[in-house]
Amino acid sequence: MSEKYDYDLIAIGAGSGGLSVAERAAAYNMKCAVVESGKMGGTCVNVGCVPKKIMWLGANLAHSLKDAKDYGFDIENKGFDWGHLVNKREDYISGINNWYHNYLSDSNIDELTGFASFVDEHTIDVDGKKYTAEHIMVSPGTTPTVPDVSGAEYGITSDGFFELKECPEKVAIIGSGYIAVELAGVLNSLGCEVCMYLRKEHLLRSFDAMLRETLLEEMLDQGINIMPRTQITEIIKEKDGTLSLCDDKGNKNTAYNELIWAIGRHPNTEGLNLDAVNLELDDQGYIMTDMYQKTNVDNIFALGDVTGRAQLTPVAIAAGRRLADRLYNNQTDRHLDYKMISTVVFSHPPIATVGLTEGEARKKYGDGVTIYQTRFTAMYNSMTSHEVPTAMKLVCIGAQEKVVGCHIIGPGCDEMLQGFAVAMRMGATKKDFDDTVAIHPSSAEELVTMR
Ligand code: FAD
Ligand code: NDP
Repeated sequence: MSEKYDYDLIAIGAGSGGLSVAERAAAYNMKCAVVESGKMGGTCVNVGCVPKKIMWLGANLAHSLKDAKDYGFDIENKGFDWGHLVNKREDYISGINNWYHNYLSDSNIDELTGFASFVDEHTIDVDGKKYTAEHIMVSPGTTPTVPDVSGAEYGITSDGFFELKECPEKVAIIGSGYIAVELAGVLNSLGCEVCMYLRKEHLLRSFDAMLRETLLEEMLDQGINIMPRTQITEIIKEKDGTLSLCDDKGNKNTAYNELIWAIGRHPNTEGLNLDAVNLELDDQGYIMTDMYQKTNVDNIFALGDVTGRAQLTPVAIAAGRRLADRLYNNQTDRHLDYKMISTVVFSHPPIATVGLTEGEARKKYGDGVTIYQTRFTAMYNSMTSHEVPTAMKLVCIGAQEKVVGCHIIGPGCDEMLQGFAVAMRMGATKKDFDDTVAIHPSSAEELVTMR
């Protein structure tokens, strides 16, 4: 334990990254503190994964209620109480916040409440009080971006979405990434009229084409309006309180109750006084780190969303734990490998994906790529009037047909991919997939029976 400093480790930010590094370091008997200016748990717990997944689960139920008739149930849906679900969701989140307070105290990790900024390489200021540490780990996360457009302030972001007390009647969503797609699906499923405005051609542009094309088709089928290649140039708040959106094609799109900006996020580095330690940022303002999460300053580390790499909760957690293993448990080469990270988009239906897209593989391996692909209606949906598609693709390379990409869209795929991701990390080939006996009847069995 450090005798020179107040702590062995101070983590700035009690989100997925900060909590995980402190938790693991404390398990190695290091004296740790976590600084937090907002709520325990950070983005994921308070305005990210957790509340989003609860809304997604509610939205799934809305689909199931519609399907119930097709399965012979004589039920009548008498409406949806948005406030009821939001209150229960927020109670659940308060429970997680409180659990963390107790957990930190039980783990002998000090909780420093307030806003941290650097004084020097080993010292931070938290609302006027100074604390020193041998190692400082920076994980302050990111904030939703609002563009510099006239009237932009009339819109909300995903943070504002989670504050909505009732379901808006008509919403415009600007953006084409994870958040835009997920919120569009939830709102549409729960009874809101949704229009998405994309500045370019595609939703989820970096995803495999099969995934985005299937999702687009299904979103349109579900009644979501999608306007590609449309930039919003001005937002006007009308006398009746509704919003009108002027676009670059000269149209005025009217009568929106809410506009949600979902155009990406930017790093929370403002106010950290990084100049005091000359921390290097990249051209987008993310903190630059090497493969060991080390910044250009020897005792300062950064991880999670603020480093701009795979902005996902399990990534921040994995990087934090590995950093503590390396610093405090002599695991000298322990670091996170950022390749082959699986991810799920909680759309309706969900998308689960890991590894190279077909396009990326063809660019890298040319003719050495073999694609296996299937599309079908899952058994559940063969009973329902609304036929949700399921589509799967395996991207294989070389004579051995090593599986380097697995892309799935369809009901249940969010719970399907994790195990396949393990196999792919271990170097599984198409033959290994084929040699695995299927689970029947399931959708997942198609992944081991594709020809
Ligand atoms: P954060 O969790 O953002 O934590 C940073 C913390 O630092 C915050 O609590 C902040 O208040 C605090 N802070 C900032 N500056 C200071 C300061 N100077 N002093 C003190 N405290 C400070 N990921 C998934 O894997 N799956 C999902 O389904 C998913 N859904 C998402 C849905 C939404 C709507 C959003 C916005 C994100 C979602 N994510 C999801 C991403 C995930 O939330 C982030 O990748 C993850 O939270 C990053 O963790 P972090 O520790 O880097 O930052
Ligand atoms: P994303 O980076 O996923 O998507 C934002 C997209 O918006 C861009 O890719 C861009 O697409 C488009 N865009 C950018 N600027 C503008 C603009 N001025 N006008 C219109 N469109 C614009 O960001 P999100 O905010 O959706 O999510 C942030 C991150 O949080 C994600 O990348 C993900 O890592 C994480 N997340 C994870 C989830 C999960 O795991 N399920 C869920 C939610 C978030 P284009 O260039 O094609 O126009």
